[in-house]
Amino acid sequence: MKIAIYSCHDYFQAFLETQNNGAFELIPIKTALRKNTTHLAEGCTAISIFSKDKADATILTQLHKMGVQFIALRSAGYNNIDLEKAKELNIKVARVPAYSPHAIAEHTIALILALSRKLILANQRVHQYNFSIEGLTGFNLGKKTVGIIGTGNIGKATIQILAGFGSTILAYDLQKDQCLATKYGVKYVSFEVLLAQSDIISLHLPLNESTKYIINQKSIQQMKKGVMLINTSRGKHLHTKAVIEALKSGHISALGVDVYENESDYFFEDHSNEVMQDDTLARLLSFSNVILTPHQAFLTETALLNIAETTIENISAFQKGKINKNFLV
Ligand code: NAD
Repeated sequence: MKIAIYSCHDYFQAFLETQNNGAFELIPIKTALRKNTTHLAEGCTAISIFSKDKADATILTQLHKMGVQFIALRSAGYNNIDLEKAKELNIKVARVPAYSPHAIAEHTIALILALSRKLILANQRVHQYNFSIEGLTGFNLGKKTVGIIGTGNIGKATIQILAGFGSTILAYDLQKDQCLATKYGVKYVSFEVLLAQSDIISLHLPLNESTKYIINQKSIQQMKKGVMLINTSRGKHLHTKAVIEALKSGHISALGVDVYENESDYFFEDHSNEVMQDDTLARLLSFSNVILTPHQAFLTETALLNIAETTIENISAFQKGKINKNFLV
């Protein structure tokens, strides 16, 4: 069976080939899945895609006509694929539900600490032989209230680490996990109470109609003045322009993001020789109290190994006609 692997950067390819061990014919394709790149999957029964790839109704129809019957997502999130259309075309879709929640949780904590202890500024200073600590005053995480929005796999892993700092932890989720209260003293509260009482707010939600722009002008106004906001989930959870206004006014004192709402135009590629066309992204990057990483929270050896392992498992299950728990349709 021939499988086109879209967005197959070197860091993916090595792990996939090791796990595959020659079982399937993997065709690595560096570019993302788009209308103008579907032809690269000619002759393939299956394709594999990542979060930058787009599998909307038009693209799925093209792939179906070419004989593609299975899509192996290498991600947990599946907002980039039209599942209804896939179902209608009888294209099976499987994902990697939890390849390493700790990888994303640890990156979340890295963003919080880098912002709270002003590590980027300190590092820039010392490289210019400026060893002054003026303006680098941080705060103890143990003295702060952290609000976790979404207590699924990644939210839980983040809570587990935060508990070690001794932070007060508030949580909001449609489904409450009472074990978190017993184990880590987490208090579930309403969305509004979490916004009003948290010094740091971190999002760990899937992107859907109810969570799109969950952080907007109205919800920001309900937050404490000087709040730190962290988003390692999906860019469209934040109404970026509203966040920029709050950064300008100081209502948000620090922002750590691994995702951006229009990231597909820039992320995962080197655009350093071009003029930046996205004014919102450029403005975001102009703030010294903003840390933006290019969707790398997942990027650890453990996560890549688990992604490769489960992706090959899913392809194998499809070939044998054995639907497993990772299949979405
Ligand atoms: P999960 O499904 O385990 O948890 C999501 C939680 O959100 C669930 O507990 C669910 O009940 C809750 N939820 C859903 N809709 C809600 C709503 N409207 N209000 C409140 N709670 C709601 O998912 P996860 O594994 O923890 O991943 C979370 C997200 O992280 C993924 O959907 C993905 O977008 C993102 N992610 C990012 C990276 C990265 O590299 N930056 C990597 C993996 C995942």
